Amino acid sequence: MVGAGVLGASAAYHLARAGAQVSVIDPQMEGRATAAGAGIICPWVSGADDAAFYQLYTAGARYYADLVPALAAIGEDDLGFRRTGALVVSANAAELAFIENLLGERQAATPEMGTVNRLTPPQARALFPPLHAKLGAVHIAGGARVDGRRLAAALLRGAQHHGATVHDGAATLRLSGGQVQVVLTGEHLEADQVILTAGVWAPDLLRPLGIDLPIQPARGQIVHLRLSGQDTRDWPVVFPLSGHYLLAFDDQRVVVGATREDAGFACQVTAAGLAEVLTQALAVAPGLASAEVIETRVGLRPVGPGRPLLGALAGVPGLLIGNGLGAAGLTIGPLAGRLLADLALGHAPVLDVAPYDAATALPLPPSRQRSARGGG
Ligand SMILES: Cc1cc2nc3c(=O)[nH]c(=O)nc-3n(C[C@H](O)[C@H](O)[C@H](O)COP(=O)(O)OP(=O)(O)OC[C@H]3O[C@@H](n4cnc5c(N)ncnc54)[C@H](O)[C@@H]3O)c2cc1C
Repeated sequence: MVGAGVLGASAAYHLARAGAQVSVIDPQMEGRATAAGAGIICPWVSGADDAAFYQLYTAGARYYADLVPALAAIGEDDLGFRRTGALVVSANAAELAFIENLLGERQAATPEMGTVNRLTPPQARALFPPLHAKLGAVHIAGGARVDGRRLAAALLRGAQHHGATVHDGAATLRLSGGQVQVVLTGEHLEADQVILTAGVWAPDLLRPLGIDLPIQPARGQIVHLRLSGQDTRDWPVVFPLSGHYLLAFDDQRVVVGATREDAGFACQVTAAGLAEVLTQALAVAPGLASAEVIETRVGLRPVGPGRPLLGALAGVPGLLIGNGLGAAGLTIGPLAGRLLADLALGHAPVLDVAPYDAATALPLPPSRQRSARGGG
């Protein structure tokens, strides 16, 4: 396993749990997406118009109902996961009616979104006290949040519990006799199957193999606030229609985000990023004005040209990739890791992976075309 963000950690956990011998390598790169992700699990409000993407997104949310108890059974119950519900907020009744209708249409196929109700501004504020007094809401009972850092760490410990080994370091890949090999600090590691889940760094790892993986970093800056004296544990996720969001965790913490920037691999917090995130948050929740800024996180979302990519690459035996989870990876990642594990083990995946098949989505590299046709 090369890369142990939420996707690699989940694949490692599921593989080890199934009895496979697993080695995980990760250098904990600055900017890894999982360590910065907000942690919202509420795909039903998504504006995505690709049915296959929406199917994976909602299945990812549903998979938490299996994963959380399975991790708890081995003592891993510190994930920051809670079904707090979510609010889509607006001062415009027509906008809220549109959202309510959309959710109503989607409810039959995804009943796990729970009940959907319209709330008056005072009712919405009773659930999220810093909210602007003019904002009404649509409440979605099934909305949840998770702490990406704690989730990935729990998955990795879960993998170790089932026998996986974890190595700290940056791997490279090379081809030897047509087979992919992993190299760590000059040593070649033996593996029947290499799974590359290295987020935005995966293209660099694949370039020496002649593969051009179309994954780009989309920087996200996100701010953590502390509201002393407030019990924030059950506060819902809040979605204004601006595309920004607010959510709360147990330790008097409110998280507000996030920027979506094309800034390459730069991982610094910027004045403009902070200004954008805080301005948007305070417009929606002026009650946060006196909150203490305790942390700013920056992550690089791995964004591809379309759907997430899962599976083998044409002409490269022994290699599976998982990538392109973009802004949805803390929702999709645990399930996608399970799917990668199924593929690696030769099991029928728990969900049809054909729409996300990396080999179909990516053209065969020119250097591989002859051998892949079996042409010698
Ligand atoms: C600000 C922000 C907010 C977000 N909010 C949400 C949200 O609310 N809900 C949601 O569902 N998703 C959210 N996301 C998206 C989610 O965080 C990502 O899609 C997801 O974390 C991607 O996981 P990954 O494992 O593919 O990549 P990463 O987490 O980036 O992991 C890749 C790993 O590969 C490792 N690596 C790199 N190079 C090497 C190497 N040479 N050898 C070995 N390992 C290597 C890195 O160290 C890293 O740990 C958010 C993202 C950001 C940035």
